[in-house]
Amino acid sequence: MLVYVLNQYGKPLMPCAPRKARLLLKAGKAQVVRRTPFTIQLLYGSSGYQQAVSLGVDAGTMYIGLSATTEKKVLFEAEVMLRTDIQELLSTRREFRRARRHRKTRYRKPRFLNRQKPERWLAPSVQNKVDTHAKVIQRVLSILPITNITVEVAQFDIQKIKNPDIAGTEYQQGEQMGFWNVREYVLFRDKHTCQHCKGKSGDKILNVHHIESRKTGGDAPGNLITLCDACHVKIHREGLTHLFQRQQKSFRDASQMTVMRWFIYRGIQKVFPHAEVTYGYITKNTRIQNGLEKSHLVDARCISGNPTATSLAGTYLIKQVRGQNRQLHKATILKGGVRKANKSPSFVFGFQLFDKVRYNGQECFVFGRRLRGAFDLRLLDGTKITSGASHNKLTLLERASTLLIQLEKGGKAASSPA
Ligand SMILES: [Zn+2]
Repeated sequence: MLVYVLNQYGKPLMPCAPRKARLLLKAGKAQVVRRTPFTIQLLYGSSGYQQAVSLGVDAGTMYIGLSATTEKKVLFEAEVMLRTDIQELLSTRREFRRARRHRKTRYRKPRFLNRQKPERWLAPSVQNKVDTHAKVIQRVLSILPITNITVEVAQFDIQKIKNPDIAGTEYQQGEQMGFWNVREYVLFRDKHTCQHCKGKSGDKILNVHHIESRKTGGDAPGNLITLCDACHVKIHREGLTHLFQRQQKSFRDASQMTVMRWFIYRGIQKVFPHAEVTYGYITKNTRIQNGLEKSHLVDARCISGNPTATSLAGTYLIKQVRGQNRQLHKATILKGGVRKANKSPSFVFGFQLFDKVRYNGQECFVFGRRLRGAFDLRLLDGTKITSGASHNKLTLLERASTLLIQLEKGGKAASSPA
């Protein structure tokens, strides 16, 4: 593993080996500022030599891959697990509110009929993902002197399919420029093959057909399908439109990603204005050229531009969790219409949910707590350590936060090199 180093003003320097950090701490020339990833701050002036450090970001809806590399070395690698519970929690809350307001109660004037969403509104689940990308990148910027960031925003480049000569600033304009853009996406999605005859007709002219009429069905990709000219004419003449059904669910992830991509990128630009963009097909090519395995971290390393950098740093797993646990969100209503209350207070014997603790020499997280002082301990990937650890046997290592971090591999956890 590596120890991350800040100068006396808190600006990041190149990381150092644990041995050097140990000597600095012993000599009183540095102090510990963070436990995971282990970070020290120098107490004396040091300009420190710096190299170009490139950060690759594999943007995603479920995971983010992060890899900070120099030409030869990997300095930091982390996989971030994003929250996926937001949509469901908000639906539950909405249900409860609706039910409550439709019960037989006194009449209340409608208060919210003239509510309008602000212009740049994003669904909360999407907004969260956008914010988290910026947040974790901010974290990396706080421990490493990053000189350059590259973000993989999507598997394919709709702009490029539309206009291969595209370059410069036009490139950064969004892809929701009306129907023609969606059309190109649909052609790509359907692999430029007629979805009726699967290309057997030999007709090379392709049409993008509206399954439901444009008026009612709209221009969403789920309402569009690729048909060759021959099949298209035939389907309209013989009225065979019912052969196709609107497709929505299967493209959810892809379409969410295409909507999200520029928002994520813009969010990242707010913390690092010169962030660059790359696409999945380029990453894939780099990975195959270098004979590397497929994983979020390897992809991130390829995106950073240094696919052959060797990893000594150890990798981190970061899990995003909710900071609140509102009673309003609790779905199970007990007999008699009583909603379940939180059984335990926030702190039980000084420990709260998601605190990092040491138990039997192992670092793990509090995933559940019981009033009597028994704790459910797990690793971030869900691996169960024990479901009934006594509070006497726990040592508090780090307080809970919404971004939990654990060292995955690459040596012992950064408990104390001193
Ligand atoms: Zn056809």
